[in-house]
Amino acid sequence: MKFDTSIALYKEAEDHIVGGVNSPSRAYKGVGGGTPVFMEHAKGAHFWDVDGNRYIDYLGAYGPIITGHAHPHIAEAISAAAYNGVLYGTPTKLENKFAKMLKEAIPSLEKVRFVNSGTEAVMTTIRVARAYTDRTKVIKFSGCYHGHSDLVLVAAGSGPATLGTPDSAGIPTSIAEEVITVPFNDVEAFRQAIRIHGEDVAAVLVEPIVGNFGIVEPKPGFLQAVNDIAHDAGSLVIYDEVITAFRFTYGSAQEIVGVQPDMTAMGKIIGGGLPIGAYGGRVDIMEQVAPLGPAYQAGTMSGNPASISAGIACLEVLQQDGTYDYLDSLGAMLEDGINKHASTYGLPVQINRLKGALTVYFTDGEVENYDQADATDGEMFSRFFHLMLQEGINLAPSKFEAWFLTIAHTEEDITATLQAVEKVFSIMAKE
Ligand code: PMP
Repeated sequence: MKFDTSIALYKEAEDHIVGGVNSPSRAYKGVGGGTPVFMEHAKGAHFWDVDGNRYIDYLGAYGPIITGHAHPHIAEAISAAAYNGVLYGTPTKLENKFAKMLKEAIPSLEKVRFVNSGTEAVMTTIRVARAYTDRTKVIKFSGCYHGHSDLVLVAAGSGPATLGTPDSAGIPTSIAEEVITVPFNDVEAFRQAIRIHGEDVAAVLVEPIVGNFGIVEPKPGFLQAVNDIAHDAGSLVIYDEVITAFRFTYGSAQEIVGVQPDMTAMGKIIGGGLPIGAYGGRVDIMEQVAPLGPAYQAGTMSGNPASISAGIACLEVLQQDGTYDYLDSLGAMLEDGINKHASTYGLPVQINRLKGALTVYFTDGEVENYDQADATDGEMFSRFFHLMLQEGINLAPSKFEAWFLTIAHTEEDITATLQAVEKVFSIMAKE
């Protein structure tokens, strides 16, 4: 495969756009470098790049594209919104309809508010939790990503008693000190953090099913324990469902884990591919938000008719019978096939999968927390990534990301992908 046009465009991009990309994860830094492929056109499960190469897409735009690209029902909704005026700055009945759809799907959302990104949604849940509890600290779990607002861009301390340090330049230590980070799936570490800081903890923020160090499910009882311990200490529980909302089942991760948070942040899928975020939760908490309460949050673009129309259309597609069973069956086929080829070629592969989302780790061991994900073989993943790209399989350029299936993928796509995997593993086995 040749990438000449992408290479030229990347050079040009580097002259004008910082780092040549508008989000750092799009650069191939996590896979040892290289030129990010410039895509030109996408339909269903497929991408075509500027050099005319065709790919099967497993990036899914980092999660939102669960229906496949350019789904006609969503495209029509966006087009209708475009001709009807994309931004009013007034309320619309579309927002009522979409809010009701979200509440019906996820009962813990007694009231919602639409924003424009997952970052904004999470950032605001924290502000509201602080307003409600009149406390300042937040507990998060290491390796979970919650967007790029100051408070959540904080690395793990060395233990539950250690306060965070900024994970990015430009974040004051005083802000990072408001964050305590503990390992995912470790009830005792969490209990200890609450024991030490409990009276100051406004909220515990967690991805109920992790998507950001690969797909990692909570151990049985973990999230119930988090809820109980947090509530005993007077802290709120916030689920970051930016990846997981509508990903594994229509009721979202909280239905799967069987635990209800006080507040939930969402994004990605609920915009059908257009920019969106939403947060919601218990009515007494949500009533802290302006104009009812003292916690301020606003947005010129919030609830815009284009994003809301795309979101409604996307959920309508997902409501069709069999959506998640179909994603599960394709996911199982992919998982089984990759495992089979890995054992044939003697490669250390561990797959974490839930329905149509999976992560392929190069390791012999289980991956249940960030340290284990971090310890998996990044060089092998990088090699795998670049060889798969050459075979026309577009994966996320990081060992920590998931493969996202869409309802547009077919068994033929999976078969073709598995042929590529076999070829790539046969090359890697000889190296
Ligand atoms: N939370 C989670 C769990 C995410 O995965 C992401 C994005 N990957 C965000 C928040 C931030 O969302 P956005 O990129 O829309 O700001």
